[in-house]
Amino acid sequence: MRLILLGPPGAGKGTQAQRLVARHGIVQLSTGDMLRAAVAAGTPVGRQVKDIMDRGELCPDNIVVSIIADRIQQPDAKNGFVLDGFPRNVAQAEALERMLHEKGLDLDGVVELKVDEGQLVRRIESRIKETLARGEPLRKDDDPEVLKTRLDAYRRQTAPLIHHYREKNLIRAVDGMAPMDEVTAAINWIFAKPKPKKTSAKLANTQKTKQKSMKAAGGAKKSKQTARKAAKALRRPVKARGSKVAAAKRPAAKKAASKGAKKTAKRR
Ligand code: ADP
Repeated sequence: MRLILLGPPGAGKGTQAQRLVARHGIVQLSTGDMLRAAVAAGTPVGRQVKDIMDRGELCPDNIVVSIIADRIQQPDAKNGFVLDGFPRNVAQAEALERMLHEKGLDLDGVVELKVDEGQLVRRIESRIKETLARGEPLRKDDDPEVLKTRLDAYRRQTAPLIHHYREKNLIRAVDGMAPMDEVTAAINWIFAKPKPKKTSAKLANTQKTKQKSMKAAGGAKKSKQTARKAAKALRRPVKARGSKVAAAKRPAAKKAASKGAKKTAKRR
């Protein structure tokens, strides 16, 4: 499983990345964390990027690309990874595509965490307060003025990636303002394993029997609840899910979410 989380500072990429790590046994590759570690260790790279990071600007592509290239070679990344903070512009995305292509690997998908900018600023302000309350040192770039630069860098350089991945049909948007667990549920729906294909009538019958017994055991009810949770953060109101055309255009995982939610809606 190889994923990218895309979203402005404070969108919740780090939290969701950790949950994906726990769920899929993959590693989180956060260029921000790696660069901060280089700064803290005083490596040549760290010395080169320190001031740039303090100003909230993007570090040179060659540096971050080579960090990621090294990192995805490591044995712990063999199972897959979730990229958080990379790529941050189209050149980095293209470099990533080349790297993966050389290894015969593909991306499974990109999740865009959509957030409201006004609320983002408030989120970061409360993150600053919480950090101070824990007695931990603040990040130099967790400062209102620097935050403006970081948001500006996102808008100008990173947001074009939404179009880039949309053209490749790889991106799915999730409402990043929804409660954390709903965001997680929506992401899990997107990357749920597809159901095995029905290869014969016999197999289809087995499937039906299984579904019936699941229903009896209350499994169906549980999956509907999960579907409703996911549907909320997938930015699609449950009742507006009737159109066959829209459903046909949706990816399988979303369709499954919609199906569960629709059944629930009918019962009301
Ligand atoms: P944020 O919370 O703003 O998303 P990160 O922890 O991802 O922050 O990154 C912090 C800083 O590290 C960025 O402002 C930038 O200077 C640098 N950085 C991280 N990832 C990249 C990248 N892929 N390309 C360029 N600079 C990066």
